[in-house]
Amino acid sequence: MERYWTTGDCWLGCERTGVQVLWLGPIQWDGWTAPFMACAPCLDRLLAQARAHWLRRLRVTTAS
Ligand SMILES: [Zn+2]
Repeated sequence: MERYWTTGDCWLGCERTGVQVLWLGPIQWDGWTAPFMACAPCLDRLLAQARAHWLRRLRVTTAS
C-alpha cells in the first residue's frame, strides 16, 4: 500500500493541525468515507500498540 506524508490535521487524538501527517486509510461509517490521517508521534503510539497486539497473537499461535 502506498503511503504519503502531507500537511494536515492529525485524527489520532493529539488534535494538532497543520502538521506532517500520514494517510493510514479511509474511515468508513454509515456509508460515509473520510481520510484517516496521523502525525508521527501518534503513529508511533499506534504502531507500538499494534506491535504488542501482533506479538501476543504470535505467542498464542506458536504456543501450542
Ligand atoms: Zn497526532
